[in-house]
Amino acid sequence: MDKFLRRKDSSSRTDDEPSTSVTKKPKEVSEKKYDEDYIKYGFSWCGDETAPRPQCIICGDQLSNESMVPSKLKRHLYSSHPSCANKDKQYFKRCLEQNKKQKKFMKSAVTVSEKALEASYHVAKLIALQKKPHTDGETLIKAACMEIVRLMLGPNEVKEVNKFSLSADTVKRRIHDMSSDILGTLIKKLLSAEKFALQINETTDIKNKAQLIAIVRFVEEDFIKEHYLFCKEVPERTTGEEIFRVTDDFFKICNIQWSNCIAVLHGWRCGNDGS
Ligand SMILES: [Zn+2]
Repeated sequence: MDKFLRRKDSSSRTDDEPSTSVTKKPKEVSEKKYDEDYIKYGFSWCGDETAPRPQCIICGDQLSNESMVPSKLKRHLYSSHPSCANKDKQYFKRCLEQNKKQKKFMKSAVTVSEKALEASYHVAKLIALQKKPHTDGETLIKAACMEIVRLMLGPNEVKEVNKFSLSADTVKRRIHDMSSDILGTLIKKLLSAEKFALQINETTDIKNKAQLIAIVRFVEEDFIKEHYLFCKEVPERTTGEEIFRVTDDFFKICNIQWSNCIAVLHGWRCGNDGS
């Protein structure tokens, strides 16, 4: 009880504090509350309701909860926005309303663009998995989506669908982003697993170029995992030296140590078809 009284005394000594700022619970006495009247200093509030922070309606600056007192709010208004110092409550209320509207508009714009971005990644993944040409994104998939949406939902929804890009370049970029991300995750796992086994084999592509494919096997959380590591063109003849050079180049770029490679298997075995 003493504690409560002492605290109340100390807070009541602050002349700047409005009557509403004194709360009943002793623990919250130290947190200053927002008073509707503070709008005349050009301030609204943001953050947690129990410890709100004053936010300037003009510049958006957020002050600390301790600054939730007329003298400090006034100081900010006079020093940072002298031209607004003599404006009345109604002026700041209008500004606040305008800010809210802009915020709402911005939020909806960002949400749509984020969704469009996510959608373009999903479609790029489908194109990659189905091994379809990148140009299918714009010429077939997007065109089909727009037709379906136009017939089933309406012209306004078509505008939304039209916001996401599926050009061949975009699809290529998205696939590249995803594959880099997958490789990055795999390298991290490999480095943390420390020991791994490597399986490599060559094949010839439709252009008659030799492609070296590598697969790694390692332990992750007590499970043996197998992952495709890379597919690289072997520029020269597929001799042992060339295969080592291509693999070594890849290891150097990814910071993988040969000393952690406990076994190298050449060719496909363990039920895989091929040579
Ligand atoms: Zn300001």
